[in-house]
Amino acid sequence: MDAEATQAGGDTIFGKIIRGEIKTDFLYEDDQCVAFDDIEPQAPVHFLVVPKKPIAKLSDAQDADEKLLGHLMIVARAVAKQKDLSEGFRVVINDGPQGGQEVMHIHVHVMGGRQLSWPPG
Ligand code: C5P
Repeated sequence: MDAEATQAGGDTIFGKIIRGEIKTDFLYEDDQCVAFDDIEPQAPVHFLVVPKKPIAKLSDAQDADEKLLGHLMIVARAVAKQKDLSEGFRVVINDGPQGGQEVMHIHVHVMGGRQLSWPPG
Protein backbone atom coordinates (compact mmCIF):
# COMPACT_ATOMS: atom_id res chain seq x y z
CA MET A 1 0.00 0.00 0.00
CA ASP A 2 1.33 3.46 -0.91
CA ALA A 3 1.18 5.38 2.36
CA GLU A 4 1.12 8.76 0.63
CA ALA A 5 -1.58 7.82 -1.86
CA THR A 6 -3.82 6.19 0.74
CA GLN A 7 -5.65 8.34 3.24
CA ALA A 8 -6.10 7.24 6.85
CA GLY A 9 -9.09 4.89 6.84
CA GLY A 10 -8.68 4.05 3.16
CA ASP A 11 -10.25 5.14 -0.08
CA THR A 12 -13.63 3.41 0.02
CA ILE A 13 -16.95 4.82 1.20
CA PHE A 14 -16.11 3.40 4.65
CA GLY A 15 -12.93 5.50 4.69
CA LYS A 16 -15.11 8.58 4.23
CA ILE A 17 -17.38 7.40 7.06
CA ILE A 18 -14.41 6.71 9.36
CA ARG A 19 -12.93 10.16 8.66
CA GLY A 20 -16.28 11.88 9.23
CA GLU A 21 -16.54 13.08 5.60
CA ILE A 22 -19.91 11.32 5.45
CA LYS A 23 -21.85 12.17 8.59
CA THR A 24 -22.70 8.94 10.40
CA ASP A 25 -24.02 8.25 13.88
CA PHE A 26 -21.60 5.75 15.35
CA LEU A 27 -23.03 3.11 17.68
CA TYR A 28 -19.47 2.62 18.93
CA GLU A 29 -16.02 4.05 18.23
CA ASP A 30 -12.55 3.47 19.59
CA ASP A 31 -9.02 3.85 18.23
CA GLN A 32 -9.31 0.63 16.21
CA CYS A 33 -12.83 0.50 14.79
CA VAL A 34 -16.29 2.01 14.38
CA ALA A 35 -19.77 0.46 14.35
CA PHE A 36 -22.79 1.96 12.60
CA ASP A 37 -26.20 0.90 11.31
CA ASP A 38 -26.21 -0.52 7.78
CA ILE A 39 -27.81 1.89 5.33
CA GLU A 40 -29.82 -0.98 3.74
CA PRO A 41 -30.75 -3.17 6.71
CA GLN A 42 -31.52 -6.83 5.97
CA ALA A 43 -32.99 -7.43 9.43
CA PRO A 44 -34.61 -5.25 12.15
CA VAL A 45 -31.09 -4.84 13.56
CA HIS A 46 -28.24 -4.73 11.05
CA PHE A 47 -25.03 -2.94 11.89
CA LEU A 48 -21.45 -3.07 10.65
CA VAL A 49 -18.21 -3.18 12.61
CA VAL A 50 -15.40 -1.68 10.53
CA PRO A 51 -11.72 -1.43 11.44
CA LYS A 52 -10.05 1.92 10.87
CA LYS A 53 -7.17 0.04 9.27
CA PRO A 54 -8.16 -0.30 5.60
CA ILE A 55 -7.74 -4.04 5.07
CA ALA A 56 -9.59 -4.69 1.78
CA LYS A 57 -10.91 -8.15 2.64
CA LEU A 58 -10.51 -11.00 5.09
CA SER A 59 -8.38 -12.96 2.64
CA ASP A 60 -5.92 -10.02 2.59
CA ALA A 61 -5.58 -9.90 6.39
CA GLN A 62 -2.19 -10.78 7.86
CA ASP A 63 -1.32 -12.97 10.83
CA ALA A 64 -0.40 -9.70 12.58
CA ASP A 65 -4.05 -8.61 12.29
CA GLU A 66 -5.18 -11.41 14.62
CA LYS A 67 -5.71 -9.09 17.59
CA LEU A 68 -7.61 -6.52 15.51
CA LEU A 69 -9.89 -9.19 13.99
CA GLY A 70 -10.61 -10.55 17.47
CA HIS A 71 -11.37 -7.02 18.64
CA LEU A 72 -14.03 -6.66 15.92
CA MET A 73 -15.79 -9.73 17.37
CA ILE A 74 -15.67 -8.33 20.88
CA VAL A 75 -17.14 -5.04 19.66
CA ALA A 76 -19.80 -6.97 17.67
CA ARG A 77 -20.76 -8.73 20.91
CA ALA A 78 -20.87 -5.49 22.90
CA VAL A 79 -23.01 -3.62 20.36
CA ALA A 80 -25.33 -6.64 19.97
CA LYS A 81 -25.86 -6.45 23.73
CA GLN A 82 -26.46 -2.69 23.49
CA LYS A 83 -29.09 -3.49 20.80
CA ASP A 84 -30.77 -6.08 23.08
CA LEU A 85 -30.16 -9.05 20.78
CA SER A 86 -30.54 -11.47 23.68
CA GLU A 87 -32.31 -14.08 21.49
CA GLY A 88 -29.30 -14.33 19.20
CA PHE A 89 -27.86 -12.78 16.08
CA ARG A 90 -25.74 -13.57 13.04
CA VAL A 91 -22.21 -12.40 12.26
CA VAL A 92 -21.11 -12.39 8.60
CA ILE A 93 -17.98 -11.34 6.74
CA ASN A 94 -18.39 -11.37 2.96
CA ASP A 95 -15.13 -11.94 1.10
CA GLY A 96 -14.51 -11.15 -2.54
CA PRO A 97 -16.82 -11.50 -5.57
CA GLN A 98 -18.22 -14.96 -4.82
CA GLY A 99 -18.68 -14.01 -1.18
CA GLY A 100 -20.85 -11.08 -2.28
CA GLN A 101 -18.52 -8.38 -0.95
CA GLU A 102 -19.33 -4.94 -2.39
CA VAL A 103 -17.28 -2.56 -0.26
CA MET A 104 -13.58 -3.41 -0.39
CA HIS A 105 -12.84 -2.51 3.22
CA ILE A 106 -13.27 -5.47 5.54
CA HIS A 107 -16.37 -5.27 7.74
CA VAL A 108 -18.38 -7.48 10.04
CA HIS A 109 -22.14 -7.58 9.50
CA VAL A 110 -24.25 -8.21 12.62
CA MET A 111 -27.92 -9.01 11.98
CA GLY A 112 -30.71 -9.87 14.35
CA GLY A 113 -34.16 -9.04 15.66
CA ARG A 114 -35.95 -11.69 13.56
CA GLN A 115 -35.65 -15.43 12.96
CA LEU A 116 -32.87 -15.85 10.41
CA SER A 117 -32.90 -18.75 7.96
CA TRP A 118 -30.01 -20.93 6.84
CA PRO A 119 -28.30 -21.25 4.42
CA PRO A 120 -28.02 -17.68 3.12
CA GLY A 121 -28.31 -17.23 -0.66
O1 C5P B 1 -20.41 -7.20 2.60
P1 C5P B 1 -20.74 -6.13 1.58
O2 C5P B 1 -19.52 -5.42 1.05
O3 C5P B 1 -21.62 -6.62 0.48
O4 C5P B 1 -21.61 -5.12 2.40
C1 C5P B 1 -21.55 -3.74 2.24
C2 C5P B 1 -22.60 -3.18 3.15
O5 C5P B 1 -22.35 -1.82 3.35
C3 C5P B 1 -24.03 -3.32 2.59
O6 C5P B 1 -24.84 -4.01 3.52
C4 C5P B 1 -24.45 -1.86 2.42
O7 C5P B 1 -25.82 -1.65 2.68
C5 C5P B 1 -23.57 -1.16 3.44
N1 C5P B 1 -23.33 0.25 3.20
C6 C5P B 1 -23.63 1.17 4.19
N2 C5P B 1 -23.40 2.50 3.98
C7 C5P B 1 -22.90 2.92 2.82
C8 C5P B 1 -22.57 2.00 1.80
C9 C5P B 1 -22.81 0.67 2.01
O8 C5P B 1 -24.11 0.79 5.26
N3 C5P B 1 -22.72 4.24 2.63
